[in-house]
Amino acid sequence: MKIFCIGRNYAAHAAELGNKAPKDNPMVFMKPPTAILPNNKPFYHPDYSDDIHYETEMVVKIAKNGRHVAPGFAMDYVGGIGLGLDLTARDLQNELRQKGHPWEIAKGFDNSAPLGATFYAPEEFTDLNDIAFRMEKNGEEVQHGRSSNMIFNLTALICYVSRFFRLQKGDLLFTGTPAGVGPIVRGDELIGYLTTREGEQMMFQTRVK
Ligand code: MG
Repeated sequence: MKIFCIGRNYAAHAAELGNKAPKDNPMVFMKPPTAILPNNKPFYHPDYSDDIHYETEMVVKIAKNGRHVAPGFAMDYVGGIGLGLDLTARDLQNELRQKGHPWEIAKGFDNSAPLGATFYAPEEFTDLNDIAFRMEKNGEEVQHGRSSNMIFNLTALICYVSRFFRLQKGDLLFTGTPAGVGPIVRGDELIGYLTTREGEQMMFQTRVK
């Protein structure tokens, strides 16, 4: 199973970190499968970072194998929609970027991808390109987003990623974070929500220890 992640896919988030939003192509990176932290398991804050940030992201579960997916078929690859966190060791990431080094250790470390257990089928949404989600830290909303604000929509992401990487059933695609990212500390509780046809659903609940 592969975990694809998209960087800077919301203009307001790119701006809040002082980055330029990509114009031509999505910014793709990967996390290893060991990054997944199943829903409701606590996240133990590691000692190699003093500045781990939450990034709440809509996650697509890939429905079937394929490569070089054409735009007209891209949505057939959406097997389910979930919600997760792309935890990022911001201090390490900045250090690595300054050196021009790859940022895997800042993004792909163990348990850096807390993930809700539930994925909703595409039919559970009125419009896959306009899904609302949000996250509360300690009972206060810190992030909210809509997939309609993504710079590259699901079709564009699936087409682009599948040019380089063969998609396999069960792969995950973290679609990028909206603005409002911030640090986590021990004791924090992070709860993510996503809105389906039926209303708002609690998708994950992660405690930082
Ligand atoms: Mg992210």
